Formats: sequence, C-alpha cells, structure tokens
Amino acid sequence: MRLTKQRKAIIDLFKSNPGRAFSVEMIYNRIGNGKMNLSTVYRNVDRLTELGVLAKNLMESTAYYYAKKEKHQHFMICTSCFKMLPINHVIEEIIPIAIGKTEFEPLAHDIVIYGICRECQLKTKKSPTNASR
Ligand SMILES: [Zn+2]
Ligand SMILES: [Zn+2]
Repeated sequence: MRLTKQRKAIIDLFKSNPGRAFSVEMIYNRIGNGKMNLSTVYRNVDRLTELGVLAKNLMESTAYYYAKKEKHQHFMICTSCFKMLPINHVIEEIIPIAIGKTEFEPLAHDIVIYGICRECQLKTKKSPTNASR
C-alpha cells in the first residue's frame, strides 16, 4: 500500500482513538485544517475503506468509519460521542436461530446496536440546559 501523508494522518487519527468511529466531517475537523480539504478527506477515507483498513457503516443517513479489526467484531455505538463497545457471542448465537428451518444460507451479517453510552447519559443529566425540561 502506498501511504500518502494524508492517508497516514487519517490512519493515525484512528490509531490514537482506539474504539472510536468518525464521520468524514469529524475527521476533517480533527485533522483537515490547513492540510486537507473535505473532498480530499472523502477520497482518502473511501480508498482506505476499499483497501480494508477502515470499515464503513451508516448511522441514520450519516456514514461513519472505524478501524477494521482482523477479527470479525460487532459493536454498540454511542450516537453522541461515537464510542464503540464490542459485543459478539450473543449476536453470533442468534444467526442459527434466525435461520431456523428456512435453509437460508447466510453469507454475511452486519448488526450494530446504536444508543447513548453511560458517560454521555451522565453528561446530559448534569447539563443545566436540560434540567428544566
Ligand atoms: Zn457517548
Ligand atoms: Zn458476527
């Protein structure tokens, strides 16, 4: 893989924030300033996804990216801070149950649980702007 400076900067962002997902805008806000414009971030993130370095998913209609693990992995993702909490065994166990007697041959699956992590829940509760609601 030929690693351009821009691509390296993106990879470094994911490496220094393990277990965190980013949208293109978030990547741009963190490392783009002065070094990369938004379309360059898009292009590099797309390429890294094609190369299998990053994995892409959709949250509502926003695409977000995370460092692809060697091992097959599922996550719960916080929609507020994009923290990813790994989950696995339970998900794998439901697949044969889902198939049941259908003789469906599963080729791939993609299961993500979206929500709000504990830290973000606490932040919202402590926030004075929400206290009066
Ligand atoms: Zn959170
Ligand atoms: Zn799985």
